[in-house]
Amino acid sequence: MYRLRLWSVRHARGLERLYKWVEGTMVALDPLFARIGYARVERPVAVLESGVKGLLFDCEMCGQCVLSSTGMSCPMNCPKQLRNGPCGGVRPGGFCEVKPWMRCVWVDAWDGAQRMRNGAWISEVLPPVDRSLKGSSSWLRVAREKAAERRHSETKSRARRIVAKAFAGARRNEPASAPLAEEPPSAVNREAQP
Ligand code: SF4
Repeated sequence: MYRLRLWSVRHARGLERLYKWVEGTMVALDPLFARIGYARVERPVAVLESGVKGLLFDCEMCGQCVLSSTGMSCPMNCPKQLRNGPCGGVRPGGFCEVKPWMRCVWVDAWDGAQRMRNGAWISEVLPPVDRSLKGSSSWLRVAREKAAERRHSETKSRARRIVAKAFAGARRNEPASAPLAEEPPSAVNREAQP
Protein backbone atom coordinates (compact mmCIF):
# COMPACT_ATOMS: atom_id res chain seq x y z
CA MET A 1 0.00 0.00 0.00
CA TYR A 2 1.56 3.25 -1.18
CA ARG A 3 0.65 5.32 1.91
CA LEU A 4 2.11 2.75 4.27
CA ARG A 5 5.23 2.65 2.14
CA LEU A 6 5.68 6.38 2.66
CA TRP A 7 4.95 5.95 6.38
CA SER A 8 7.75 3.35 6.57
CA VAL A 9 10.22 5.82 5.07
CA ARG A 10 9.15 8.48 7.60
CA HIS A 11 9.66 5.97 10.41
CA ALA A 12 12.87 4.49 9.02
CA ARG A 13 14.73 4.88 12.32
CA GLY A 14 12.19 2.89 14.33
CA LEU A 15 11.95 0.24 11.62
CA GLU A 16 15.74 -0.01 11.52
CA ARG A 17 15.67 -0.87 15.23
CA LEU A 18 12.85 -3.36 14.69
CA TYR A 19 14.76 -4.95 11.85
CA LYS A 20 17.85 -5.35 14.04
CA TRP A 21 15.70 -7.09 16.63
CA VAL A 22 14.10 -9.39 14.03
CA GLU A 23 17.55 -10.27 12.70
CA GLY A 24 18.88 -11.07 16.20
CA THR A 25 15.83 -13.25 16.91
CA MET A 26 16.20 -15.12 13.62
CA VAL A 27 19.90 -15.73 14.27
CA ALA A 28 19.10 -16.95 17.79
CA LEU A 29 16.56 -19.37 16.29
CA ASP A 30 19.18 -20.86 13.95
CA PRO A 31 19.69 -24.05 16.02
CA LEU A 32 15.93 -24.65 15.97
CA PHE A 33 15.69 -23.98 12.22
CA ALA A 34 18.66 -26.26 11.62
CA ARG A 35 17.01 -29.04 13.66
CA ILE A 36 13.69 -28.73 11.82
CA GLY A 37 15.44 -28.20 8.49
CA TYR A 38 15.73 -24.84 6.71
CA ALA A 39 13.94 -26.23 3.68
CA ARG A 40 10.91 -27.07 5.82
CA VAL A 41 10.65 -23.67 7.50
CA GLU A 42 11.26 -21.75 4.27
CA ARG A 43 7.64 -21.70 3.15
CA PRO A 44 5.93 -20.56 6.39
CA VAL A 45 8.61 -17.93 7.08
CA ALA A 46 8.42 -16.65 3.49
CA VAL A 47 4.62 -16.33 3.80
CA LEU A 48 4.97 -14.39 7.06
CA GLU A 49 7.73 -12.18 5.64
CA SER A 50 5.76 -11.48 2.51
CA GLY A 51 2.68 -10.50 4.53
CA VAL A 52 4.53 -8.12 6.87
CA LYS A 53 6.82 -6.57 4.27
CA GLY A 54 4.16 -6.49 1.59
CA LEU A 55 2.09 -4.32 3.88
CA LEU A 56 4.87 -2.01 5.05
CA PHE A 57 7.09 -1.77 1.98
CA ASP A 58 5.16 -3.18 -1.00
CA CYS A 59 7.79 -5.91 -0.90
CA GLU A 60 8.10 -8.11 -3.97
CA MET A 61 10.09 -10.82 -2.20
CA CYS A 62 13.22 -10.45 -4.28
CA GLY A 63 14.98 -12.66 -1.72
CA GLN A 64 17.88 -10.22 -1.13
CA CYS A 65 16.45 -7.54 1.07
CA VAL A 66 18.37 -4.28 1.05
CA LEU A 67 15.97 -2.10 3.04
CA SER A 68 18.64 -1.36 5.65
CA SER A 69 20.75 0.22 2.90
CA THR A 70 17.92 2.05 1.16
CA GLY A 71 16.27 4.09 3.89
CA MET A 72 13.47 1.50 4.23
CA SER A 73 12.30 2.29 0.67
CA CYS A 74 12.18 -0.90 -1.40
CA PRO A 75 14.07 -0.43 -4.69
CA MET A 76 11.96 -3.15 -6.32
CA ASN A 77 9.15 -0.57 -6.44
CA CYS A 78 11.19 1.43 -8.91
CA PRO A 79 9.63 0.68 -12.34
CA LYS A 80 13.17 0.16 -13.63
CA GLN A 81 14.13 -1.78 -10.47
CA LEU A 82 17.33 0.19 -10.11
CA ARG A 83 19.37 -0.87 -7.09
CA ASN A 84 22.00 1.84 -6.97
CA GLY A 85 20.31 5.18 -7.13
CA PRO A 86 17.81 6.95 -9.38
CA CYS A 87 17.83 7.14 -13.16
CA GLY A 88 18.21 10.48 -14.87
CA GLY A 89 14.48 10.98 -15.24
CA VAL A 90 13.38 12.14 -11.79
CA ARG A 91 10.70 14.80 -12.26
CA PRO A 92 10.58 18.12 -10.41
CA GLY A 93 9.39 17.54 -6.85
CA GLY A 94 11.09 14.13 -6.79
CA PHE A 95 8.45 12.25 -8.80
CA CYS A 96 9.01 9.16 -10.94
CA GLU A 97 9.47 9.50 -14.68
CA VAL A 98 7.46 6.34 -15.45
CA LYS A 99 4.74 6.71 -12.77
CA PRO A 100 4.34 10.47 -12.32
CA TRP A 101 1.92 10.05 -9.38
CA MET A 102 4.59 8.24 -7.37
CA ARG A 103 7.65 9.67 -5.64
CA CYS A 104 10.92 8.27 -6.91
CA VAL A 105 11.81 5.37 -4.59
CA TRP A 106 15.39 6.67 -4.51
CA VAL A 107 14.33 10.15 -3.43
CA ASP A 108 12.42 8.43 -0.61
CA ALA A 109 15.39 6.17 0.05
CA TRP A 110 17.60 9.21 0.57
CA ASP A 111 15.06 10.78 2.97
CA GLY A 112 14.75 7.54 4.94
CA ALA A 113 18.53 7.06 5.10
CA GLN A 114 18.94 10.50 6.71
CA ARG A 115 16.78 9.27 9.58
CA MET A 116 18.65 6.02 10.12
CA ARG A 117 21.64 5.31 12.35
CA ASN A 118 23.33 3.39 9.53
CA GLY A 119 22.03 5.70 6.83
CA ALA A 120 25.51 6.00 5.31
CA TRP A 121 25.08 2.46 3.98
CA ILE A 122 23.09 4.02 1.14
CA SER A 123 26.43 5.02 -0.43
CA GLU A 124 27.57 1.41 -0.72
CA VAL A 125 27.22 -0.17 -4.13
CA LEU A 126 24.70 -3.03 -4.08
CA PRO A 127 25.15 -6.17 -6.18
CA PRO A 128 22.69 -6.84 -9.00
CA VAL A 129 19.52 -8.77 -8.16
CA ASP A 130 19.85 -12.52 -8.34
CA ARG A 131 16.51 -13.50 -9.89
CA SER A 132 16.90 -17.12 -8.82
CA LEU A 133 16.22 -16.05 -5.22
CA LYS A 134 12.83 -14.49 -6.00
CA GLY A 135 10.14 -15.66 -3.60
CA SER A 136 12.58 -16.94 -1.00
CA SER A 137 12.84 -15.56 2.51
CA SER A 138 15.55 -12.95 3.08
CA TRP A 139 15.07 -13.25 6.82
CA LEU A 140 15.98 -16.94 6.77
CA ARG A 141 18.91 -16.45 4.45
CA VAL A 142 20.38 -13.70 6.62
CA ALA A 143 19.77 -15.79 9.76
CA ARG A 144 21.58 -18.75 8.23
CA GLU A 145 24.50 -16.65 6.94
CA LYS A 146 24.97 -14.69 10.17
CA ALA A 147 24.73 -17.83 12.32
CA ALA A 148 27.32 -19.54 10.09
CA GLU A 149 29.59 -16.48 10.37
CA ARG A 150 29.23 -16.50 14.15
CA ARG A 151 30.01 -20.23 14.35
CA HIS A 152 33.04 -19.71 12.12
CA SER A 153 34.44 -16.87 14.26
CA GLU A 154 33.75 -18.86 17.47
CA THR A 155 35.63 -21.87 16.04
CA LYS A 156 38.51 -19.60 15.03
CA SER A 157 38.82 -17.97 18.45
CA ARG A 158 38.54 -21.38 20.16
CA ALA A 159 41.36 -22.67 17.92
CA ARG A 160 43.39 -19.55 18.76
CA ARG A 161 42.90 -20.17 22.50
CA ILE A 162 43.98 -23.83 22.15
CA VAL A 163 47.12 -22.83 20.22
CA ALA A 164 47.94 -20.11 22.77
CA LYS A 165 47.60 -22.62 25.62
CA ALA A 166 49.65 -25.29 23.83
CA PHE A 167 52.28 -22.70 22.94
CA ALA A 168 52.59 -21.57 26.57
CA GLY A 169 53.12 -25.23 27.62
CA ALA A 170 55.70 -25.75 24.90
CA ARG A 171 57.57 -22.59 25.97
CA ARG A 172 57.83 -23.91 29.51
CA ASN A 173 59.35 -27.20 28.32
CA GLU A 174 61.48 -26.09 25.45
CA PRO A 175 65.30 -26.20 25.93
CA ALA A 176 65.62 -22.46 25.36
CA SER A 177 63.86 -21.76 28.63
CA ALA A 178 66.15 -24.12 30.62
CA PRO A 179 68.90 -22.38 32.65
CA LEU A 180 71.99 -21.76 30.54
CA ALA A 181 75.04 -23.88 31.29
CA GLU A 182 78.12 -21.93 32.32
CA GLU A 183 80.49 -21.04 29.48
CA PRO A 184 83.78 -23.01 29.51
CA PRO A 185 86.73 -20.63 30.24
CA SER A 186 88.18 -21.35 26.76
CA ALA A 187 85.09 -19.85 25.15
CA VAL A 188 85.47 -16.49 26.83
CA ASN A 189 87.13 -13.82 24.67
CA ARG A 190 89.42 -12.17 27.18
CA GLU A 191 90.56 -9.43 24.73
CA ALA A 192 87.05 -8.15 24.34
CA GLN A 193 86.71 -7.79 28.14
CA PRO A 194 87.48 -4.41 29.73
S1 SF4 B 1 14.40 -5.35 -1.23
FE1 SF4 B 1 13.45 -7.29 -1.89
S2 SF4 B 1 12.97 -8.40 0.02
FE2 SF4 B 1 13.39 -6.23 0.58
S3 SF4 B 1 11.41 -5.24 0.61
FE3 SF4 B 1 12.21 -4.98 -1.47
S4 SF4 B 1 11.47 -6.73 -2.70
FE4 SF4 B 1 11.17 -7.17 -0.52
